[in-house]
Amino acid sequence: MIIFKKEVDVHAFLLNKKQEKQTIGFVPTMGALHEGHISLIHKSKSINTLTVCSIFVNPTQFNNPQDFEKYPITIDEDILMLEDAGCDVLFLPSTHEIYPDHFVKINYDLGYLETILEGKYRPGHFQGVCMVVERLLQIIPCDVLFLGQKDYQQCMVIDKMLSLRKMNVELNIAETIREADGLAMSSRNRRLSPEERTQSAVIFKTLIEIKDKIGKIPFDSIIADSKKNLEDFGFDVDYVELKDYYLHPIENDTSNKGIVALIAATINNIRLIDNMIVVEKNR
Ligand code: AMP
Repeated sequence: MIIFKKEVDVHAFLLNKKQEKQTIGFVPTMGALHEGHISLIHKSKSINTLTVCSIFVNPTQFNNPQDFEKYPITIDEDILMLEDAGCDVLFLPSTHEIYPDHFVKINYDLGYLETILEGKYRPGHFQGVCMVVERLLQIIPCDVLFLGQKDYQQCMVIDKMLSLRKMNVELNIAETIREADGLAMSSRNRRLSPEERTQSAVIFKTLIEIKDKIGKIPFDSIIADSKKNLEDFGFDVDYVELKDYYLHPIENDTSNKGIVALIAATINNIRLIDNMIVVEKNR
């Protein structure tokens, strides 16, 4: 695996590869890698001839400075995992490389996506996400961008950003990889104490219960029961919501729409999110 730290070097290297007709898959991450990230590397490798990963803890997407400061950094282990997975290129930029002095910030018109769910609870977060992903895509000339369904709304936001900015990049969304008890893998899980880690399985269990109850019980009751469930295990709940695939609101109608359940909840200042398709479209 070749490691680049400078924009000019990685950009020139990849343009060369494109001229050689290689197809480039790109997996942007913030490091503290786990099997969820590695699944994206494998997926990219199965479709592309060259796979690039980036590790950059993007300060502009943290609305909570403490969360940024406490974000785990495990570069040496990350490099070993990426080498093991057969990743071809790692881009490891400094903050100044991503946001040089001449960097011009723009505002992305994300519409309703910015006022609901994560957008509502993390003001400015998705502007920061768009900012860093657009910047990374300027540097990494990829054919396919790989994102995880774990961050469902983020996938929608990046899809919107790609069309707003008319970027010719295919978006490939990979399924969520989970621990044995169902907890979605996340870099933040490392901060959980053993007890909190055990309690956190309640998020996945709640999603499964929602899937079981949907169509049998009114949405309001499902949501109220779910919140209580999470609170009983020590979580402060930001939201439990049911939306259509595009994150539009839905009524008590499960007939032919796809429905996704989304949860955000915090334990001991560690905020976890997860989601599940609970009704498939046209089932
Ligand atoms: P992050 O480092 O948390 O910014 O995540 C980098 C990419 O990995 C994002 O596209 C995430 O959605 C994806 N990802 C994070 N956790 C998982 C998981 N458990 N399964 C699959 N993809 C994931």
